[in-house]
Amino acid sequence: MNSAGIVTASYIAATVLFILALGGLSNQETARRGNWYGIIGMAIALVATILGVVTQHYTLLFIALLIGGSVGLVLARRVQMTQMPELVAILHSLVGLAAVLVGFANFMDHSTVLHGAEATIHDIETYLGVLIGAVTFSGSVIAFGKLSGRIGGKPMILPARHWLNLVLLLGSIWFGIEFVEQSAAGGGTWPLLLMTLIALAFGVHMVMAIGGADMPVVVSMLNSYSGWAASATGFMLSNDLLIVTGALVGSSGAILSYIMCRAMNRKFLAVIAGGFGTGGGTTAAGGEEEGEVQPIQSEETAELLANAKEVMIVPGYGMAVAQAQHTVYEITKVLREKGVNVRFGIHPVAGRMPGHMNVLLAEARVPYDIVFEMDEVNEDFPDVDVSVVIGANDIVNPDAQEKPDSPIAGMPVLEVWKGGTTIVLKRSMATGYAGVGNPLFFKENTRMLFGDAKDTLDAVLKTL
Ligand code: NDP
Repeated sequence: MNSAGIVTASYIAATVLFILALGGLSNQETARRGNWYGIIGMAIALVATILGVVTQHYTLLFIALLIGGSVGLVLARRVQMTQMPELVAILHSLVGLAAVLVGFANFMDHSTVLHGAEATIHDIETYLGVLIGAVTFSGSVIAFGKLSGRIGGKPMILPARHWLNLVLLLGSIWFGIEFVEQSAAGGGTWPLLLMTLIALAFGVHMVMAIGGADMPVVVSMLNSYSGWAASATGFMLSNDLLIVTGALVGSSGAILSYIMCRAMNRKFLAVIAGGFGTGGGTTAAGGEEEGEVQPIQSEETAELLANAKEVMIVPGYGMAVAQAQHTVYEITKVLREKGVNVRFGIHPVAGRMPGHMNVLLAEARVPYDIVFEMDEVNEDFPDVDVSVVIGANDIVNPDAQEKPDSPIAGMPVLEVWKGGTTIVLKRSMATGYAGVGNPLFFKENTRMLFGDAKDTLDAVLKTL
């Protein structure tokens, strides 16, 4: 087999491994294996590309690999679990940036001269690659800012924003036609540059207009865009593996966006159009709730738990911040030994990235058969004696069902208040990601266990 044959065979093997990786990642029990398939697939892809496709400039390539690899290694070692969503967002931005750079390099490279339809198709590939790449890049940078708290979660609503988007879209189409025409005559730089600026502005505007509670959809959507950007890069470089891998990421991201939309009871187009999170003028303040909160101490919490028959644990973002998952599992083990039926109820958008809670619980080795999706347990709350809400807020907010003008109205929530007693673990009365007050904290059967979730749970465990 010649070297092209070996590269093709390696690419097919890598593609199969990537598909197996996606299949594996769809289930907690096989996720670890799925990850390995992905790692091996990527290793094969890299080696095949370096040895079989690149033919010159090895020094430059290795310097780039060394720099990129070192940055990746340092980032991956340093990043906290709570910063994972931001890291993912900023990595998506790099895929977008790469597509833009490859697009421009491709445009400036005149080593192969194409004619007729071939030239037109090549120009359209370049144009679309830069367009998708630039939207992905700027959108992901803004998403990174929002997820890391550097940019406020409130949606930025410009007047006539839909018209603005339409103008940007029409502008891009017009510059696209100009680009293809001018490029045939040896020009095209200006339309390409102007479209890049438009696409960058569109990415910023699109993500800025999306309210806090809708960020999960945006994160998965940008994930999808980064896939299409990679795929476009593959077309520009005539690299089949990149086309296929990009399409895999693009379509799985699109499916994830759909799942997240369904979980949040939102329409995809409405999310993209932005503006959710404003709730028709309701300010995202938490102070309108009336009533008194009833605090509880860890000793009494331990007693309530030990005397319960049915316990539901509802983890949220705060559990990730406190890194309390290991203590949660220790408590679960003790309670199960006492004959208490302990289950976990997981909201699809709990935490800050899809599957966030599942990852944490898997890390703490909580058995999968006691971890349930929201839909599997939401009907069971009337039979639950004690629900323990660990650093969750928006996902257990009754206003989502009861207050039509709430920014999170319509989002399905875990109905913990229907159970016997709800114990909410958090540090203060602060709001969650969506920035809205939560009447759950004032309900008669709710007790607030204030403090860092790890500290309070350690104390509960000690008492138990
Ligand atoms: P929330 O952000 O609604 O609430 C988290 C709560 O945890 C806060 O109210 C905070 O209260 C508490 N907390 C923080 N640190 C600690 C700590 N160390 N110990 C104890 N409590 C702590 O999280 P939820 O999981 O309920 O909801 C997720 C939200 O994030 C939703 O609005 C969702 O739309 C959004 N989102 C989800 C994404 C996803 O893909 N899953 C992506 C982006 C956004 P206090 O400060 O008082 O301690």
